[in-house]
Amino acid sequence: MCSIIGYAGRSAAAPVLVSGLRRMEYRGYDSVGVATWGEDGAILLKKGAGRVEEVNRRLGLDGLAGHAGMGHTRWATHGVVSDTNAHPHTSSAGGVAIVHNGVIENHLEMRRSLEDSGYVFASETDSEVIANLLQRYYDQTGDVRSSLLGTVSNIRGHYAFIAMFGDGTMACARHGKPLMAGLADDGLFLASDVRGFIEYTDDAVYLENGTCCMVRDGVLEVMDFEGNAVRRPATKVSREFGDLDKGDHDHYTIKEINEQPGVIRRAGASSVAQIRRVADMVRIAGHAYATGSGTSYNAALMGRRVLARFAGVRLDAVIASEMPGDTMLERGGVLLAISQSGESADVLEAVRTARRAGCTIAGVVNSANSSLARDSDVVIRMDCGPEVGVAATKSFCAQYSIMLRLAEALAGDTGVDLEGVASAVSRVVQDSDRIREVAAQIRDITDVYVLGRGLHYPAAVEAALKIKELTYIHAEGLAGGEMKHGPLALIEKGTPVIVLNPYDSTYGDMLLGAREARARGAKIIGISDRESDAYDHWIRIPPGDEVSYSFSEVVAAQLLAYHAAVARDADPDYPRNLAKSVTVK
Ligand code: GLU
Repeated sequence: MCSIIGYAGRSAAAPVLVSGLRRMEYRGYDSVGVATWGEDGAILLKKGAGRVEEVNRRLGLDGLAGHAGMGHTRWATHGVVSDTNAHPHTSSAGGVAIVHNGVIENHLEMRRSLEDSGYVFASETDSEVIANLLQRYYDQTGDVRSSLLGTVSNIRGHYAFIAMFGDGTMACARHGKPLMAGLADDGLFLASDVRGFIEYTDDAVYLENGTCCMVRDGVLEVMDFEGNAVRRPATKVSREFGDLDKGDHDHYTIKEINEQPGVIRRAGASSVAQIRRVADMVRIAGHAYATGSGTSYNAALMGRRVLARFAGVRLDAVIASEMPGDTMLERGGVLLAISQSGESADVLEAVRTARRAGCTIAGVVNSANSSLARDSDVVIRMDCGPEVGVAATKSFCAQYSIMLRLAEALAGDTGVDLEGVASAVSRVVQDSDRIREVAAQIRDITDVYVLGRGLHYPAAVEAALKIKELTYIHAEGLAGGEMKHGPLALIEKGTPVIVLNPYDSTYGDMLLGAREARARGAKIIGISDRESDAYDHWIRIPPGDEVSYSFSEVVAAQLLAYHAAVARDADPDYPRNLAKSVTVK
């Protein structure tokens, strides 16, 4: 996955492209490049490995001349992270340049055939075949449209690409990766995400899969893969995406952690009717499936517990990339598909599988204009505002709150007080400085185990995921009772163990587990509302019930991970090797 952007208009293109890339960088950030048309129509190109800011400083991407061009931030799938593999890529003759998001599955075959015809490759990427293929068709026909249609009929995979031709035409195609056009007063944009152009316009045209476009003399022409003209309406996108300022915070991640009390109050507020509708659907089906990847899957695990507990409804949580074949799913089922971006390739694939099985799809999503929103029968919006930090924080609280609202719609009163949860979380957030002191203690560790029981078990899994993502410390989330069935063998003198040990029905067993680990040398970090001599360090959370505890401990763990990351000089907003919306399988 990555971000791609194109611009053609009256402004100098390179600075516009670089600022769009900066806003979309969360999608992938191992290398970056920009290409423009210079005065004489020649393609000018600069690219290199590294983050947008740094490469721009080093190479002056925003200094390239011209009023049209394109850019890319990469998240490598084929070929190492290097200057050469960075996009844009040009055809060997230099007449076509491309930026590509996604994977070309038959690239080896295409590459061989192109090499046999004399086309030369400079990079290890799958993407470069697009440039040479477009060039081959262009050499044969001299026509951009037939080059574009010929190319999309030959490549297989999931992709969105933008191409620049020597004659001044910009072209693009979408098949399974996001791509949209932005219509600004002074020019036209193509981008993976509205953030690419939201500074300049909120008029967008969302392109469907299987469409391609040409941009010539300021006119956008949309067609299907057969070349038939397609009309797509322009829609207004939310200006809230323009509000991506860190404010007084050092990082987006801490800003977003701090926003969580409000997020819990607001989650799903714009989808009250939709939540009720999904509850009706689930009631008729008798049970439901939930899927997601990473943190969204952990929210599905929370959902599994709370739907069983409060509504007596079975929710099977399935990791999106492990969705069983359609024959394994019950016909007429309901799938809750959870994804912050709504662009996660694994979740979209799981949705396709469930559709084949005759399931109805309820998307739980933050981006209302995403692929998942469009592929769902009912859309529940997370309403948590844009999340920039690559490691999910506030989107987890939003997803979990929505699961609770769904349980309430199914069961009537659950006794869960989300207002009380929000106040508990705001107290945790206010304790950030004290959590920072504990984080300083774990700065140099290499492994940590996080234990929890009941509702606190999926919370432990999410806590461990945050520690892995933000600090690069190896972390495992384990069911408290499982420790003695194997993992205890890993405990040595000084091994840190975090126990989620609120004063509820799990308290006694967890405390016993903590003592057993401590007796074998473990250093115990207790996250609890009760102090204990079993803890070497204590992170205090407010008293509450099981649900409010589970939120408080996840937020405490987010803060612990955030502060430890800062202490370890890791960038919490952009963890290495990761990307925000994982649009490749
Ligand atoms: N597959 C391409 C590459 O490895 C594009 C990856 C991306 O979407 O960033 O360069």
